[in-house]
Amino acid sequence: MECTFYPHSFPSISLLMMRNYKSAYKVARRLRGEGSQAESSGGCVGKLIWPILWKLCIPNKIKIFGWRACNDILPTKGNLVKRKIITDDKCHICTRKVESAIHALWDCAAVQDVWAGSIAKLQKGVTDFSDFMQLMEHLVDRLSIEEMELFWVQCWLIWNQRHCVLYGGQLKHPTSLNKRAEEFLEEFKHAQVSLDGKLREQRIDDAWQPPPPMEYKLNFDAAIFSGQEKSGIGAIIRNDKGEVMAGMSAIGPKVDTSEEAELLACRRSIEFAVDAGFTRLVIEGDNSNVMQAISSNVANYSFLGNVVDDIRHLMSNLQWTTTSKIRRGGNKVTHVLAQHARNLDYDLYWLEDSPPPAMEALYQDLILL
Ligand SMILES: [Zn+2]
Repeated sequence: MECTFYPHSFPSISLLMMRNYKSAYKVARRLRGEGSQAESSGGCVGKLIWPILWKLCIPNKIKIFGWRACNDILPTKGNLVKRKIITDDKCHICTRKVESAIHALWDCAAVQDVWAGSIAKLQKGVTDFSDFMQLMEHLVDRLSIEEMELFWVQCWLIWNQRHCVLYGGQLKHPTSLNKRAEEFLEEFKHAQVSLDGKLREQRIDDAWQPPPPMEYKLNFDAAIFSGQEKSGIGAIIRNDKGEVMAGMSAIGPKVDTSEEAELLACRRSIEFAVDAGFTRLVIEGDNSNVMQAISSNVANYSFLGNVVDDIRHLMSNLQWTTTSKIRRGGNKVTHVLAQHARNLDYDLYWLEDSPPPAMEALYQDLILL
């Protein structure tokens, strides 16, 4: 089952996708209820790997690199040929096989020595893997968290080194690459400890707070893109442990004021939450006027009164709801998702999967919990 959906911008197809999306959401919830066995089955392996990957203590650029490797969207020569950017898909180091992610980082003769000199569990056996996801499925139960962190740093250094060779650099000795990976990880973790402490001190007032137990929190935000005929809408639904239930980065209409953008984002976000099956919600935004308008019962005669009415109506149909105002600093996840819509041609939805563009912001919210 795919966990990321790319509904088309045409309304009819978008509606169709939304139906699939809703049923997929129910499947996802059922799988979760059935425990880890169902989640580790082949079809859901990505769903299992991604949360592990993004909780690792490694730089975000390496997590995103890992996500791209697993989804086979690294700019390997194989992929560049598919996209008609180059014509030769052969590995530039061994010159024998097509350069895919699994070849470049695992199979290629040039990297076999790196893995041979690594920890025992990563020393390459006879097993062949058709793609990186299959390799991850193999490793996920075998490696500890620390070993997984080391593995990804090694992969990332291998990838960079292959790039250097492409531009005339020399292959480093495998021992020095593995040593560099260990040092890199140690330096990063050391820096992280002091950074976490500083972040905790600075942002405690702004921090995102999880909803009460058993409830869900919907955060939303809007972005105005000057000179463009659209706005951006970001939404995220998290549970009381801060786990992502659903996320959205969507295109909104062209708007004139931030209040209009925020109100439209609020309406669209609640519709998204309702469509995804959430009926108990803390609704949280960072615009005081908007949050005040939607929580009040007083008739709103402003030119945006009809949107406020729509939102109140949507809220009245929920089983339970409350509103909450957060400072902008605590609403970074949806800020990033709204900004992400700047370069989108269609809306993006994620289900029980952390939206890659918001990884860093999600991580920062989590360490403050
Ligand atoms: Zn090769």
